[in-house]
Amino acid sequence: MVKRRGLYPGTFDPLTLGHVDIIERAVKLVDELVVGVAINRDKGPLFTLDERVEMVEFEMKRIAKASGVSIKVTPFENLLMHFAEGQGANIIIRGLRAVSDFEYEFQMVGMNQSLNDDIETVFLMADARYQSIASRLVKEIARLDGNITSFVPDHVATRLTGKFAK
Ligand code: ADP
Repeated sequence: MVKRRGLYPGTFDPLTLGHVDIIERAVKLVDELVVGVAINRDKGPLFTLDERVEMVEFEMKRIAKASGVSIKVTPFENLLMHFAEGQGANIIIRGLRAVSDFEYEFQMVGMNQSLNDDIETVFLMADARYQSIASRLVKEIARLDGNITSFVPDHVATRLTGKFAK
């Protein structure tokens, strides 16, 4: 039987409990998972690529152990479909939060299907507790000295607080 290799791409600036929840659901669907960390210079990330990869890797060790699914964390800068092809992925995983995500994701899938119709995009929804979490808002709360511990894993919270320490 063909192995299901999933690719979950994102900026992960930083990894949140929303991302973690999606990954914990994704490993139920695939035999192997690649988490693709986009360099995404345009978004002007707060964390360097290395920092973002490190934070994701730290969390993936736990999920890989608990699920038995092999998880690889890989940075990428090229076109998503080229990256997916290079990784031998046959499923792209995306998370859906609100209606606001839908329009963009809908267009992306349409374009990606024209580029390669053999790779399916699958949308997952996080648990209700995590649906409203967005990296952008978590950074804003941390910058204004708010409590972010219920939005990100502990090791990420420590790093975030460190970034904004006066
Ligand atoms: P991108 O720049 O690709 O949007 P993100 O790191 O912001 O990167 O998000 C990666 C993926 O995770 C996207 O599909 C996004 O919709 C999804 N995601 C992020 N936060 C959540 C959340 N709280 N619940 C569900 N999906 C989420």
